Amino acid sequence: MDRRTFLKSGMLFGAFTALSGFSLGSTAIAENLADGNDKLPFKKVVKTDDEWKRILTPEQYRVARASGTEEPYSSPLNKNYRQGVYTCVCCDLPVFSSKTKYNSDTGWPSFYAPIAKINIAEKIDNSLRETRTEVLCNRCDAHLGHVFDDGPKPTGLRYCMNGVAMKFVKTK
Ligand SMILES: [Zn+2]
Repeated sequence: MDRRTFLKSGMLFGAFTALSGFSLGSTAIAENLADGNDKLPFKKVVKTDDEWKRILTPEQYRVARASGTEEPYSSPLNKNYRQGVYTCVCCDLPVFSSKTKYNSDTGWPSFYAPIAKINIAEKIDNSLRETRTEVLCNRCDAHLGHVFDDGPKPTGLRYCMNGVAMKFVKTK
C-alpha cells in the first residue's frame, strides 16, 4: 500500500502517524481527524440544498456548500486584522479568532489554529492530484478551506480559509 492510499483511510491514519513519527504539523492534523462527533457541545445544523440557497448568496453557496474556492485576494477579510471572531457564514458557529490570524501572503485569510478544535472538522480531500486536508464547520459541515503543515509557530499549521465562507464579528 503506498502512502497516499494509506492516508485515505481515516481509521488507519492515527496508527500510521504513531508508527512513523510523521511531522508535527501532520500529527496535529491527524489528531483532529480522529476526533469524531460523539460528544459535540452543539446540535448539528442540517438543511437541504434549496434551504441553503435561500439563505446564502450564490458565491457563499458555491464555496461553503459546494466546496468551491474564492479567488485569492478577493475577500475583504484577507487583510482584516481587527480584533474579533470569524464565524461560519452558514450557521454562525465561531470557527477562528483574530488572535491566530496572520499574513500568509497567499491571498486567503490564514490562521495557525481554529478557535476551538471541536468547532471544526477535518477531512482528507483527494479532489486534486495532491492530497489535502479539508476544513469544515463541525456544526453544519460547511466547507471553509484547507489546512496545510507549512504554517508559523506555535502549531506549524496554516488554515487557509475562504473569507466568503465566514463572517467577521468585531470584539472590543
Ligand atoms: Zn456552520
